[in-house]
Amino acid sequence: MIKLHDKYFKPFLSQTEIQSAVEDLAKKISDDHKEETPIFIGVLNGSFMFVADFLKAYEHPCEVSFVKLSSYQGLTSTGIVETLLDPPENIEGRTVIILEDIIDTGRTLKELVHLFSNTNVKEFKIATLFYKSEIYNGEYSIDYVGIEIPNKFIVGYGLDYNELGRNLKEVYQLNQKHMINLVLFGKPGAGKGTQAEFLKEKYNLKHISTGDLFRYNMKNDTELGQLAKSYIDKGDLVPDEVTIKMLQDDVEKNPEASGFIFDGFPRTTAQAQALDEFLVSKGMKIDATIALEANDEILIQRLLERGKVSGRTDDQDEDKIRNRFDEYNQKTAPLKDFYEAQNKFHSVNGIGEIDEITMRLSKVIEEL
Ligand code: AMP
Repeated sequence: MIKLHDKYFKPFLSQTEIQSAVEDLAKKISDDHKEETPIFIGVLNGSFMFVADFLKAYEHPCEVSFVKLSSYQGLTSTGIVETLLDPPENIEGRTVIILEDIIDTGRTLKELVHLFSNTNVKEFKIATLFYKSEIYNGEYSIDYVGIEIPNKFIVGYGLDYNELGRNLKEVYQLNQKHMINLVLFGKPGAGKGTQAEFLKEKYNLKHISTGDLFRYNMKNDTELGQLAKSYIDKGDLVPDEVTIKMLQDDVEKNPEASGFIFDGFPRTTAQAQALDEFLVSKGMKIDATIALEANDEILIQRLLERGKVSGRTDDQDEDKIRNRFDEYNQKTAPLKDFYEAQNKFHSVNGIGEIDEITMRLSKVIEEL
């Protein structure tokens, strides 16, 4: 397994497998074109390694040139294709064979065909080393295919993940291990923090509590802590921009986590939307939002008891606690609908013994 930026990749195609596919392509193409001198056009950057090995295996007269387009950013195609290096001049009447490292959706291919559409070449053919038939839109026929591959993100042998991995001799596939990402939902005092401590051990998850992060920053008197203090002391929510940024930074710090428990986040619709977008950009998603249900009077008693031990000022004053409940009812409760619309909302009775409640939560998690 190798790590590039924040992602892990596992071996997929060996040097031998790649080399034999390249040689087969060279053989097929030379059988069809050995009577003439074709111009091979590599598509940069990804095809440089394929073009070099291909030309070494092509044993007849030929010319080589390159074009450069851009379409990929991160793990998914942006769909924006720009021409960065134009086709060579004087190719009129010649046989042009495109050498692509990979064809997936066909968007880059469309741009390539367009680039050569007014060049009056004698023949225009397309060869690709890797081909994702499952997602190819089928707009143009592909004349030569090296290896058909499943629709998984790959790197190596010229292909990159945000510019890393091009120099690998083998091809690697994104290792999409199964993650569990949970949102623990519920009013202050519902037991989110307590339960998260048990669940994180049981399921090997990273627990992120935005309340704890704020308290850590307040204790260390950081700029973020000073800003958060004025809100937390009144029982108000800290502004979304600040909280979202802090949460994202903490997720980024844990690229190896096998999943997260988000505790106390999201607390507003804007936070929930930002979380969804952020997770998608990381190839992740929320699997379930589990609400711990308990009535206000029980929660107020719990919080006042906790305040005596923890020293949390926001747990010691009934008015502040009621204000936190108001914030919850106004801003957080609507998230129930948000997650219900995604079929991800689960409700669990939060009253009872701690281990009994852990069992109720585990039942939901194990049925996911
Ligand atoms: P907690 O420990 O989760 O009850 O959070 C304590 C306090 O931190 C809350 O009353 C808010 O002032 C602040 N806070 C924690 N999480 C968030 C959040 N997701 N959005 C806004 N403020 C938050």
